Amino acid sequence: MRSLVLKKDEDRRIRAGHLWVFSNEVDTKKTPLTDFAPGEEATLLDARGKALGSLCVNPASLICGRLHSKRPGIPLDESLLRERLAAALAAREQYFSEPWYRLCHGEGDYLPGLVIDRYGAHLTLQLGTAAMEARRELIVRALEELVHPASLRFDSDIPARGLEGLSRLPESSGPVPEFLEVPENGCRFTVAAAQGQKTGWFYDQRANRREFARYAKGADVLDIFSYVGGFGVTAAAHGARSVTFLDASEPALALSRRNMAANAPGVPVETMLGDAFQRLGELAEAGRRFSLISLDPPAFIKRRKDAAQGVAAYRKINLLAAGLLAPGGVLATSSCSHHLDGAELGRSIAHASAKLGRPARLLYTGAQGPDHPVHVAMPETAYLKCRIVRFD
Ligand code: SAH
Repeated sequence: MRSLVLKKDEDRRIRAGHLWVFSNEVDTKKTPLTDFAPGEEATLLDARGKALGSLCVNPASLICGRLHSKRPGIPLDESLLRERLAAALAAREQYFSEPWYRLCHGEGDYLPGLVIDRYGAHLTLQLGTAAMEARRELIVRALEELVHPASLRFDSDIPARGLEGLSRLPESSGPVPEFLEVPENGCRFTVAAAQGQKTGWFYDQRANRREFARYAKGADVLDIFSYVGGFGVTAAAHGARSVTFLDASEPALALSRRNMAANAPGVPVETMLGDAFQRLGELAEAGRRFSLISLDPPAFIKRRKDAAQGVAAYRKINLLAAGLLAPGGVLATSSCSHHLDGAELGRSIAHASAKLGRPARLLYTGAQGPDHPVHVAMPETAYLKCRIVRFD
């Protein structure tokens, strides 16, 4: 196994537990990155030659190395993959009584670049690095041994694969059903699973949806960025009076109607197709008010350089949503942008409260569930924030 040498003082973050090496931290005079094949294993050394661990290298990526072990000379082979996946599986089996969860969450499970969602017998994989792509067969073999999947779907349309120079075409093996059923918080959701479209379920909000339902009794609910109805349907099943879903995708709205019929028959449903910024303005103009609102947008900040623009978008949408709350209404506001921290989400709420002249109180602070473990030395792995706030 070859070595990859860091420049002087570039070992600090790694020594503190972080798993990533950036290309500008490598001493490329001693160890040119171009010597490495994409996904090749190496031992990481500091500038004085002391070993820091084992990693896989991608010379074409800004994050040019990701550690899979703190010991030198350790290959990312089938036995290590099996060991890590077995540990990830054992943890989920402890947290959940049924096999519907994120089975592997990349760095949070010490398997950088590998994300696996489990839907009973069906698995969806994201191979987000050249290293994981190169080990595709080993990963499949390990999963076959551990969970005997009926089908595997490779979701390749993810930005990470673009950054790593990998193809973004979807692939699958075994019979992938058109729809999957996901049990959660006493509800059953139907989600699309077929290849080639935006599919699946956002397991990361499970605990926050349950908390949202605490305020559901008798509520008129607005679910903004509703996808297939995760928040609104859970509220309806827990006693809401009516639910309005708002999303830019008609197939997603169709599934939210189907999920309402299955979980809360008889509760009035309205679906609104379109851009949330525009539609919320129209609801305000029409004088509509809601007693319980979920606001769960897609990541507005995908890259750090978009942060200022993204912060403005979060402030705007939070103000629009809070403005639709009836007196004493409750807003659950989420952000899945890595680059927007919890304090900034808090400022968006405070900004809305001040602008509207309505005092607001924080009732709950939530994050991604335990099947999306945060690596404590890697703030990048803590991405989901949820705040539940009551506006006077
Ligand atoms: N709240 C959902 C997850 C939301 S995912 C849950 O609990 O599962 C984000 C959703 O926002 C997607 O369904 C996407 O179709 C929708 N979306 C993206 N941009 C939008 C826009 N500008 N206006 C309305 N919906 C949008």
